[in-house]
Order: sequence, then structure tokens, then C-alpha cells
Amino acid sequence: MDLATPLRQVRGIGPVKARALADAGCRTVSDLLFHLPHRYEDRREVAAVASLAADGSYTVRGRLTGMRRIHTRRRGLSVVRGMLQDVTGTVPVVWFNRPYLSQQPSDEEWLLYGPVRQGTAGLEMLNPSCERAAEAVHGARIVPVYPAAGPLGPAALRRIFDEVLASADLPRQVPEILPSALLADRGLPPLGEALESLHRPSLESDVDALNRRRSPAHLRLVFGELLELQLALALLRARETAAPRTLHYRIDDPLRRAVKELLPFRLTGAQKRVLREVVDDLRGPHPMLRLLQGDVGSGKTIVAALALAVAMENGYQGAFMAPTELLAEQHFAGLQRLLGHRYRLGLFTGSSREPGRLRALAAGEIQLAVGTHALIQEGTAFRRLGLAVVDEQHRFGVLQRGLLREKGERPDMLPDMLIMTATPIPRSLALAAYGDLPVSTLDELPPGRTPVRTEVVPAARRRQVYKLLREDLEAGARAYVVFPLIEESGQVAAASVAEMGEKVRGFLSGIPCAVLHGRTPAAERERTMRAFASGEIRVLIATTVIEVGVDVPEATWMVIESAERFGLSQLHQLRGRVGRGDKPSQCVAIHGELTETAERRLAVFRETTDGFRIAEADLASRGPGDLLGTRQAGLPRLRLADPVEHWDWLEIARDVARDLLPRLDEPELAPLLRRVAPVVLDSHEGLGGG
Ligand code: ADP
Ligand code: MG
Repeated sequence: MDLATPLRQVRGIGPVKARALADAGCRTVSDLLFHLPHRYEDRREVAAVASLAADGSYTVRGRLTGMRRIHTRRRGLSVVRGMLQDVTGTVPVVWFNRPYLSQQPSDEEWLLYGPVRQGTAGLEMLNPSCERAAEAVHGARIVPVYPAAGPLGPAALRRIFDEVLASADLPRQVPEILPSALLADRGLPPLGEALESLHRPSLESDVDALNRRRSPAHLRLVFGELLELQLALALLRARETAAPRTLHYRIDDPLRRAVKELLPFRLTGAQKRVLREVVDDLRGPHPMLRLLQGDVGSGKTIVAALALAVAMENGYQGAFMAPTELLAEQHFAGLQRLLGHRYRLGLFTGSSREPGRLRALAAGEIQLAVGTHALIQEGTAFRRLGLAVVDEQHRFGVLQRGLLREKGERPDMLPDMLIMTATPIPRSLALAAYGDLPVSTLDELPPGRTPVRTEVVPAARRRQVYKLLREDLEAGARAYVVFPLIEESGQVAAASVAEMGEKVRGFLSGIPCAVLHGRTPAAERERTMRAFASGEIRVLIATTVIEVGVDVPEATWMVIESAERFGLSQLHQLRGRVGRGDKPSQCVAIHGELTETAERRLAVFRETTDGFRIAEADLASRGPGDLLGTRQAGLPRLRLADPVEHWDWLEIARDVARDLLPRLDEPELAPLLRRVAPVVLDSHEGLGGG
């Protein structure tokens, strides 16, 4: 047996088990070695029977006597009873649904592990694991508990691992890709050794550290994952920002005046600070690549608009890229209001790419292009792209930003980039996802906001909700009603939104409603949004297409149907669509049957409107890759490392990545580079071929 051996060739793994393992992503011995325990149970201490007490779990060792099957009337339940005896005494044991145990020979030593409780006739041991002491896998040690692989539970997996690990030094054959000095300096074991101790912790291991995923073995894996990610990010960033600045800015008083005149209101302190950070970057020595984060409604758009104005005043073109057509249309309308009297804007989405407009962009007549992915497609060319703003960046995936850079006048003239995200990213996560990208934060809401009241109600009370909503609508209110539908499912989604729409219309008969989803044709979508913004339509029944960016300050109701099916950040984004004006707003989350996690999610949602807390909670429940779209972007995945738990190691990894950057041609770094390079090489194409 070696690392490449298919699991179905391993003794004790038949076709059924092999299939279950394959479904869990394990085909070879090597795959299996990376199926790690998710917790450990301390069963090192073998207790004397005389010392057992109720409500603890114990490992005991002794002979089994009086084993017998008890007949029960309950179908599908079999009970075996017996006694375990050691030199200090005997304790009754009961097992459920393990009839074969009644056949065990009684002249051997057994090792039992399980809970002890107070039964009607004294203490008894309840359904313990049971194995021959001479070949114990489950007891008398620190026992790894593996996440189930289909039908294979922790005990079955332990037996499989026992078989695999018994043969030779398998884990130690796993090649180490990090230089040994890098590990030794930080007190970390080599990879093979780490894997060995994760599957078979020695008797002296610190169980608590194992369970917190902070044992030296865990940290070796965590460090490796984080280092790969940070190195990939550092390489990408180095390519993008090491270049000297080629676009030159003049910021003088006439420009300041011109920009100031655009302002429809006074900027908040945070907006002023962030704008200054951006403008400083524009005059810095390298092209800008900055992340602008701020909770929903914190006013990111105006900051971006002013930065774009600065670029246009300097004779450059601007690009503003949004993740959906609806959003691009919304931003186009908003930016047109703000900037249209001074600059020429054009909309570029899949459904509005007119040849005439494309020509005007290429000729530099259109100064600001607002659009979707269409902006980075073949055939879209700028004359002098200076500043690109990417809104709701997490939808793009980290790497697509490279494509925008290609659109500059010449490949060696890198446009400046501002990436905006409305999902406030905890610092730890920002670091994990972007490396040490400079971050500006809008941590202050514009004045005059009224907090949104949030209610979470079961579906049984839906009627009451719509009754209240109806009263408010009759008094002039505007509302969103949102359904969780996966936009990609196309036809089906459209049909079911229409169906949902009918249902809601039933509750709200006589009130002008409109339905909006991802497949609504652009022209109709625009009409609908305009009608909703003007108040002609009072209720917008929609899928999550309205999740981000949509801005109609008069809307004061957000009803979220089947709220249990949304993620926490999504719920928060939806709630952010209301509470944008001076009237009090409410968000009602209507839910069906709740799982425990959904219940917890909705409780957090009800309790806080703080985007950072929401993001942290969301991160804890979903894992970071999901939240950030790093997965789509093809960046190394974090399996064990958690940016929040392993924050300290994230910083270490960032520093090490920075140190390694200038010496990547050293042979001992070759294996690491080979693992990271595909990500970076792929994206090179998008970075202007350089
Ligand atoms: P987000 O950060 O979610 O993108 P927006 O840029 O859409 O937020 O701004 C939300 C709303 O707040 C918009 O209607 C915008 O016009 C308004 N707004 C932004 N900044 C200010 C400000 N300083 N004073 C008053 N209103 C503001
Ligand atoms: Mg926005």
C-alpha cells in the first residue's frame, strides 16, 4: 500500500465503503489522510468500576458476563444486557440494537467507553463502544472522531484508519512542500508527522489544543493553507501594484470647486476621510488598488462618484462595474442624476451594448461607462481608462478585477481601481481574501437615518403581516416583498415568482404591484424600477435581484418570505433596502419550519443591525470562502484554517509570504510555488499579458 493506492484495494474496504468514501472526496490513501477528525475524545484514563459515578463518560476494562438478549415489544429495537467486571467490582451494561454482542466470548478482556447513568436499580453503563482490549481502536487513548462519510460513522472510519495507518509509515510519505527552516522556526512539525499525530495523537497530546484546532499538528496544516493563500494574493498584488504610476493627477482649486459643486448633501466625516485616502492614492507612486468597505447605506456610491469626477476632470475615463444588470441600471440612473450635467455617461450591459455607444466609448466621447461584466468583455474598449470602480466586488471573485486593467490605454498603463463591498468584511477576512490590500472603511451612517424595526414571524402569521402592510400601503407606503429563488434556474424561477406574485397580489388586491426577477427583460425592468421609484407601483415583488444596491428612499417595508432559506448577510442586505429615508421602516422575516441553525441565524438578524457583527456571525456559520467568492476565483481553499480562529497565524502567513516574494526562485521554494502558481498564472492572462 502506498499513497496512490485506491481505497477499494485496502483490506476491510469493500465496494460499499469505497463508494461512500469516494462520495466524501476520498479515492486514494492520500485523500483519506486529509480526511481529518473534527474532534477528539479523551479516553486515555481507564476507570476502576468502583469509581464510576452517574452522568460521566468512562473507559472501563474487564470481562463481560451474563450477556443476554432481552425481548422488547418495540419493533426495530433490540436490547442486550450484561455485566462488566474488573477487580474493583461490576457494573450493568445495556446496549441497543447490537444483538451480536450477546454472542461475545466472556473469557477475554474488553474495553468499553460510554456514559454512566443512574438507572432504576443503580448505576449502569449505556450503549458503550465495545472492543477487545488487545486490539483497541476506540478506547484507552485520545480517540479521533471523524466527520461521517455518508453511511460511515466515526467508529467505522476509525477502523478504516486503523487498517491504513497500521501499514508502514504512510503519513510520512506525504511530501513536504514547505522548507524545513520555515517550519522549524515556528515550532511546527513537518506535514507527514502532523498528519500522523492528527490521526493518532500520542498519549501525551493536549486534547484541549487538539479540539481547538491549535495543536502543533493542526497549526502546521493551518499555516500551510494560509501561506498558500497569502502567497497567491501577494503574487497577484505584486503584479498589479509594483508597477510605477503612469496616470498623473493634478488636484487644484478649480478641480476642488468643480467636485464640490456636484455634492447634493454634506459628506459625513467618514466619507471625507475615505475620499482623501482615495485621492492620496491617485497621487501615490503606484496604481491604486484599494478596498472600500461600508455597511449598507453608508454612502459608498457618492465617494466613488466623486473619485470618478476627479479622474474625469483630469481627462481620464471612468468605469463603474456592478454585478447585475438591474444594479448597473440603478447606478447609471443615480450617477446620471449626479454627474450627467457635466459629464457624458453610457450604460453597458448585456442587453444594452449598442455599436454606436461602444464607438463613443472607444473614441473617449463617453467619459464614464457604467455597466456589468459587459465592460470587461471583448469588444469593449476605452480610450483613456483612468479609474475603475467595482461595486459589490464579492460577486465578481477576486481575480476578475484583473480583466478591467486590460482596458487601459496601453497594457503598461494600469488604471487605478477601487473595489467596493457592502458586505462589511471583518478585518481577518479581508486579510484572508485580499492579502494586505489597503482598506478604507465607512464606519458612519449619513444623518437622518431611522433604524429599521425587525420582526421574525412564523408563516402561520402571514395573513396578519399582510393586513398591516396593506393598511400602510393604503396610507401611501411602498414595500418590497422578496422570495428566495435561485436565479439560475431560469424558466422555473420565472414561473414560480409569477406564482408567488399572484399569491401576494391576492393579499394586496387593488394595490399596484409589479414582479421583478433575473429574467425580466431589461426594458421592462427599467420601467418597473422607475414606476416603483416614482410611486406609481407600490409593491415590488422580487427575487434577490434587489438584494444589493437598490436605492428607493421612500420604501419603508421589506417583507422577506421563506426567510429561513437566506444567509445572514443576504438578509442584512435585503433589510438595507429600507430605512434609507426619514420615515420609520420595518423588515418582517416570515419563516417556515426552522432548523436549529436557521433559528439562530434569524435570532442574530433580529437582534442586531450592525453589519460587522452580522458578517462575523455569518462567517462563523458558513465559512469564509463562500462569503467572499474566493472559491469561484480559484484561490487556494481553506479547509482547516479559519481566518477568525487562526487570526494570529494569518498575520504570520502574510508576513512570511511577503518575505518569500523576492526569493521565489530558490529551489527549496519550488514545490510551494508549483502549488500556488496555477492560480497566479491563470490570472496573468487577465492582467494584460505581462
Ligand atoms: P451604499 O453604501 O449602501 O452603497 P449608497 O451610496 O447607496 O449606500 O447611499 C445610501 C443613500 O444615502 C443614498 O440615497 C445616498 O444618496 C444617501 N447618502 C449618502 N451619503 C449621504 C450623506 N452624506 N448625507 C445624506 N445622504 C447621503
Ligand atoms: Mg451601494
